[in-house]
Amino acid sequence: MHIESIDAFSFAMPEIRDVGDGSQDACLIRVRAGGWTGWGECEAAPLPTIAALVCPMSHSACKPVSASVLGERLESPADIHRIAARVRANSLDLLQADHAFSGVEIALWDLLGRREGTPVWSLLGAREALPKTAYASCLFGDDPGQTYAKSRQARAHGYRAVKFGWGPYGRGAVAADRGQVQAARAGIGPDCLLLVDAGTVWEESVEDAALRLPALAEADATWLEEPFVGGATGAYQALARRAGTVSLAGGEGCHTVHQAAQLLAHGGVGYIQIDTGRIGGIAPARRVALLARTMGATYVNHTFTTQLALSASLQPYADAAGHALCEVPVEPSALALAMTRERLPLRDGLLTMPQGPGLGLSIHTEALRPYLVEAEITVGGRCLYRTPRWE
Ligand SMILES: [Mg+2]
Repeated sequence: MHIESIDAFSFAMPEIRDVGDGSQDACLIRVRAGGWTGWGECEAAPLPTIAALVCPMSHSACKPVSASVLGERLESPADIHRIAARVRANSLDLLQADHAFSGVEIALWDLLGRREGTPVWSLLGAREALPKTAYASCLFGDDPGQTYAKSRQARAHGYRAVKFGWGPYGRGAVAADRGQVQAARAGIGPDCLLLVDAGTVWEESVEDAALRLPALAEADATWLEEPFVGGATGAYQALARRAGTVSLAGGEGCHTVHQAAQLLAHGGVGYIQIDTGRIGGIAPARRVALLARTMGATYVNHTFTTQLALSASLQPYADAAGHALCEVPVEPSALALAMTRERLPLRDGLLTMPQGPGLGLSIHTEALRPYLVEAEITVGGRCLYRTPRWE
């Protein structure tokens, strides 16, 4: 079969708030080939991503992403690898290309899995899909009282691990951050894993991050996530040497395998967190998962949006043994909740891996319709993009 169409859709909540909740909008990709349909989601702002799919060629290494995919043969995983290489060569200088292709690549795997009647993880070579220890991924409350209430709620839902991030953490006094971490630990109790996400707040300041380490150790935090911006590998390494019992986690911003490999080799991270919606899709994420195993680091998914993105993010390490951790967004927007008809089963804090063909989920067309954002891109009087029919 050959790839007949790539359709991109922008969805958004009626109001986009200035908070760290990335589920307020969504860029959904639909690919069709040989009578089959596959779906994927980019972890990216929808409109710049759609532009990267359709923009006019700027020069030979700056072509729209769709041009390297449309019409290509799709019969096996090898074809997806070949198409990814075409995109890399043809869109080398288009910064949004990796984010845009991520959704396309995920849709290609979904489509191929549906045609073969097998889950994507099986197509990747995994023999089994083991349950994951879900961690409830929350934003810090505005104050310790709110954080305490959220942590009690996560625990009441059976989670065995809880993460708090963003919000006021790292933006004020060291003592205030300590109060937040203490509230989180008090709420979840002593037998639950506590994870803390600084959301790159200290940019590259090792000293600012190090000031928070004693409180994290005192609260027995398993990891400190993204103390620094992506690429600040030296700062990661310097902090890792001082972090004692607290591991460093990072990598969600990686948009190539090579960036993740750099962080693993030179950043001293104990946990590498990859978003399939950013790194170029499922195949490069699988490469990082296998690489992490050889380097003594633990692979963890990153996802903060829909169940579709969650399923895609789990495929690369489906066969990771030992109840590996996985991030589960617990405060998704109404839009994110509307994306799929099904939810992945979660019982007693354990998430069952998707077992159905492809990503194992179906898009809820009617529920999503109210969030569709109609858009159009016209260049020199020629329409390059208009929101496709939603059906
Ligand atoms: Mg994070």
